[in-house]
Amino acid sequence: MTDVDVLIVGGGPTGLTLACELARRGVTFRVIDRSPEFHHQSRGKGIQPRSLEVFDDLGVVQNFLDAGTAEMPARIHMDRRFVAELHLLAGAHPRPDVPYPTLVLLPQWRTERILRARLAELGGHVELGLRLAGLEQSDNQVVAHLATGEVIHASYLVGCDGGGSAVREAAGLAFPGLVSETEHYLLGDVEVDGLPRDGSYVWYAADESSVGLALLPGTQSWQFGLTVRPGEEGAGQEPSLELFQRLFAQRTGRTDVRLHNPTWLSRFSYKVRLADHFRAGRVFIAGDAAHVHPIAGGLGMNTGIQDAYNLGWKLARAVRGQAPDSLLDTYERERRPVAESVLRTSGAGMTTLFSTKPLMTCLRDRIILPLMRSTAVTKAIISKTSQLSVNYRDSELSVGDKGKVRPGDRAPDSPCRHPVTGEPSRLFDLFRGPHFTLLHFGAVVPGLAERLDALHGDDIRVHHLEPGPPSKRYGAGKGTFVLVRPDGYVAVRTRSADAVADYLRTLSVA
Ligand SMILES: Cc1cc2nc3c(=O)[nH]c(=O)nc-3n(C[C@H](O)[C@H](O)[C@H](O)COP(=O)(O)OP(=O)(O)OC[C@H]3O[C@@H](n4cnc5c(N)ncnc54)[C@H](O)[C@@H]3O)c2cc1C
Repeated sequence: MTDVDVLIVGGGPTGLTLACELARRGVTFRVIDRSPEFHHQSRGKGIQPRSLEVFDDLGVVQNFLDAGTAEMPARIHMDRRFVAELHLLAGAHPRPDVPYPTLVLLPQWRTERILRARLAELGGHVELGLRLAGLEQSDNQVVAHLATGEVIHASYLVGCDGGGSAVREAAGLAFPGLVSETEHYLLGDVEVDGLPRDGSYVWYAADESSVGLALLPGTQSWQFGLTVRPGEEGAGQEPSLELFQRLFAQRTGRTDVRLHNPTWLSRFSYKVRLADHFRAGRVFIAGDAAHVHPIAGGLGMNTGIQDAYNLGWKLARAVRGQAPDSLLDTYERERRPVAESVLRTSGAGMTTLFSTKPLMTCLRDRIILPLMRSTAVTKAIISKTSQLSVNYRDSELSVGDKGKVRPGDRAPDSPCRHPVTGEPSRLFDLFRGPHFTLLHFGAVVPGLAERLDALHGDDIRVHHLEPGPPSKRYGAGKGTFVLVRPDGYVAVRTRSADAVADYLRTLSVA
């Protein structure tokens, strides 16, 4: 007998996304967090386009668009001189296939607050002050021991408990990588007097140091960030407002700018780590528990949100006995390569931007930053970090014919006529919810919808689409079927109704 289907350890962005995914599928779960209160730190302040699509599916994207901002010029200084104003977030407009083309800036605590509100609507909540102290597992359950002495029996346990994950440790999952003993960042949330509140600021110096102040939308605060190298002032010191103020003035020459009212003061080291495995039996890890990123990469939180989105529907099927255990193996097989590739890219970006090596510094100052003033280049950067091109083409869950949109690709949006009401609609409206969606282009197969409905009920929605923008976007001729997974990736592309039915059968235990 178990107490819950799934125990989620950690109520950060990853745990909250997973909880929403499970809640809307009727899975029983608990979310525990060791912290006595919800944190109030800006940390991951950039929500990438693909995460916005996840939030669209969860029904909260408008809350993010209303709360955050997609327009924030970055004012770059070299050796205390203003050299460029970069509009990294401007210039990208919604397209029929990409409704949310730019990063939205929002402090992480506000992201978590929106997700907690959605979770509450779905009937869940985070239980604070409960620390996982240990766990053991058998063939049919996981037994979690909390520091309070409470014991929770669950069918599955997911560690969304951050970089220092106790779950990862207890499950014996190795976490190799690089943790720099020497390179640190001082980070914090402070209020600032003396700078216009309409942009963010970065100061680079010839001695390769940097300081940044990023305005945090919807708050009075700015995120302060500063690199500290061995031997420099601040290297061995505890973070304090006085230290932040002193180093800021030294590096920028701006004695007219005053930092005050800090709500978070912290010190981080440069880290790149990736767990060898994301699963051990009935225990999974996701988010920072599975991969830790250099903070300037701006993708750590987003990658965790998308881990949870990948795992949620699979766990729900497993819990309901609707899927073979092998479906759960595809979580690691699909998500670990994504995390690995993100780490490779953000590690490289970080090395170039904050390098101490003369060649890198020259590259940054003479080539990268000037190039970043070009709209075409900034668009290219945005499309690289948007995570819209993440795909699972190599997954065993991606089968069928190649085409303009291939099995494993993100299923793009498109305007369409709603197949039932005839009203103007979007494919994302058809995808929204916990079900699979079968798009059937151009021809009706009599009895197919009824057959699938009898076998899979609410799990699948079948839509017949006449030629129009969706068929053009998907390059789908008459008679093409495109089966879209609950997490918005193409599962099957085929011209055979039987192939779709067979695919769905392989995902089911029945
Ligand atoms: C300054 C800074 C800037 C960043 N900028 C970005 C950015 O722009 N974009 C981006 O995508 N990412 C960014 N990141 C990274 C981002 O903050 C993390 O990737 C993100 O918080 C990971 O989310 P998570 O839910 O996996 O883990 P966390 O947010 O770390 O949450 C883990 C939770 O687990 C709880 N917990 C830990 N141990 C236990 C236990 N034993 N029992 C119970 N609960 C436990 C913790 O209290 C915590 O609430 C930044 C990070 C920093 C520090």
